[in-house]
Amino acid sequence: MKLCSIFRSPLNTLLVFKLEDGYTVESVLYRGDSLCVSSQVGCNVECIFCASGRYGFYRNLSWEEIVNQYCIASAIFPAIKRIAMAGIGEVLHNWENCKKAFFKFKEKGLKVSFYTSGFPLSKLEELLDLPHNGVTISLHAVDSSLRNMIMKHSGNVEELLEFLRNKVKQFSEKKRKKISLGYLLMKGINDRREDIERLGDVASELGLGITLLHCNDVGLGIEPVDRETYERTFLYLRDKGIRVTLSNRFRKDPLGGCGTLTVNGYAVKNG
Ligand code: SF4
Repeated sequence: MKLCSIFRSPLNTLLVFKLEDGYTVESVLYRGDSLCVSSQVGCNVECIFCASGRYGFYRNLSWEEIVNQYCIASAIFPAIKRIAMAGIGEVLHNWENCKKAFFKFKEKGLKVSFYTSGFPLSKLEELLDLPHNGVTISLHAVDSSLRNMIMKHSGNVEELLEFLRNKVKQFSEKKRKKISLGYLLMKGINDRREDIERLGDVASELGLGITLLHCNDVGLGIEPVDRETYERTFLYLRDKGIRVTLSNRFRKDPLGGCGTLTVNGYAVKNG
């Protein structure tokens, strides 16, 4: 595998890697010290806002291919201290390789966090039990038919919530604080008052925080909410006593922000 291109925006640096069999995948360096790595070539969850799953799934990355994204990137950017396993792919669908990569990263003294859609639940349980530095479970909707529309090939949200009800109560407050529910606000899809009220109710019940994510327009017909809606949502949830993290500006960027990573060069950046 080799680094074949680097694209820079004012916020992020996008690295494109060519694999031995010719596929390309991408990593993003953000904040100067954090690297978001890919775990699969494509993704079969096919979220409606995400360019990574646009053409489905091709293959898993080996643990070496996951770790090598860091090894190659860190030779150019030695300040990397954190890994986000949040690039192309669903980590739980390639769990053995992701788990091995996680321990390799930890051996190198790196902090490692994850994003996941949550299924299969048996793998989510293993993930939550790891000595991770943060897990964001992408929820995007509490209503099951809405969630199935947004995340076309994820599991049943009722089962996910029931699992979390049982699982998170075993955790200390400190460990619970490292887990959050990811919610990417999409205009006219999951931004209604009742959607946000249900989200708030679930987060309060579980005692978990919420990460509110920016939607990037990647040409799939899904639009972000306006700034006012984003801030109103934040204030509503915060006033309910929920710990809310606003996704940082690095994640709102057509080059490397949420949902923008691509396989084999299909990209906004490439037209
Ligand atoms: S957001 Fe994540 S789980 Fe959904 S299609 Fe993109 S890479 Fe897959």
